[in-house]
Amino acid sequence: MSIALSAPDITGAERRAVQAVLRGRQLALGPQVTRFEQAVASYVGARYAVAVNSGTSGLHLIVRALDLKPGDEVITTPFSFVASANCLVYEGVKPVFADVDARTLNLDPEQVERRITPRTRAILAVDVFGHPADWPALQRIGRRHRLMLIEDSCEALGAELRGRRCGTFGDAAAFAFYPNKQITTGEGGMVVTNRTRVAALCRSMANQGRRVSGGAWLEHVRLGYNYRMSDINAALGCAQMDRIDEILKRRQRVADWYQSCLADVPGIRIPETAPGARMSWFVYVVRLAAGCGTRNRVLRKLRSRGLQCSDYFRPIHLMPFYRDRFGCKPGDFPVTEAAAARTVALPFHSAMTRRDVETVAAGLSDALRTTGNGG
Ligand SMILES: *Cc1c(COP(=O)(O)O)cnc(C)c1O
Repeated sequence: MSIALSAPDITGAERRAVQAVLRGRQLALGPQVTRFEQAVASYVGARYAVAVNSGTSGLHLIVRALDLKPGDEVITTPFSFVASANCLVYEGVKPVFADVDARTLNLDPEQVERRITPRTRAILAVDVFGHPADWPALQRIGRRHRLMLIEDSCEALGAELRGRRCGTFGDAAAFAFYPNKQITTGEGGMVVTNRTRVAALCRSMANQGRRVSGGAWLEHVRLGYNYRMSDINAALGCAQMDRIDEILKRRQRVADWYQSCLADVPGIRIPETAPGARMSWFVYVVRLAAGCGTRNRVLRKLRSRGLQCSDYFRPIHLMPFYRDRFGCKPGDFPVTEAAAARTVALPFHSAMTRRDVETVAAGLSDALRTTGNGG
């Protein structure tokens, strides 16, 4: 028996939607892309949405559309998937890391404020694991120091803070639709923004620098990319958006089962939600009381029982490329490093049953006992 770390939630509706595009033969630049953009914009409550071929492409376009340049600094989190910092490096912008809050694992606003210099132009915060970053505090810092805010919501479609959806707190936000995210398009992403000019620039750059309307096909008015989403992917996205409430509800139910099954297991810390925040569960990550060696033994034990798991995230500042290029080293961000050494991402997807969750919980308790942790 094996329980997968993640799995897309695909039904007949998704299969029919993709088939319909294939029958209609307009596989690119068609109506499904527009429909998908409108569905995401209205769901998160943003004025504009621009579909792209990955979350990373979306982040890259945002960095360009906000006119960030070599020599500029952007403060960001080291506890994330590497793309949230890479998108800055693509443009020669310096990622300046700030440590995270030990409870939510999101950027700690106090640490952010300490890293501001005359070159700082923006804050790029991640709603990590589907937990909203502390946007009210980041917005205050942004106003005080005239900084732009970029929201990496690639893990947080549907998350809310004080009744407002993630993706609407900054100048622009990116979502991602890789198969392990809340909804999938196979590969894909979306930029959302309320700023007319930012939306237009992203749309043009995603489409080889063409004019957003009225231009000739072979007229390219600025440096662009092919970051377009196909109609096949967008049709899949539309079918997923039709089911988003159901999908997120199922994920919430699995998370609730975990919370109750693991609440009394000694030697672990289960996820917490900050006041006013509503998680959109991306992964289910517990933290061990013991350090990295034990954690790695626990991961091996779980895998040997067919329970897939992972060590989300390894700190970005300790990746070889970041050490070489920016001189980062162990000890730079102690809260991030301590958390990263202790995380175990457990199997988590919408098709999991209560039995599956109980099996994982029993496997984890057992792994903890036999590695000399817990009770
Ligand atoms: C998934 C993810 C991305 C990028 O997603 P892709 O679609 O794989 O490019 C960016 N940032 C974070 C935090 C992510 O989890």
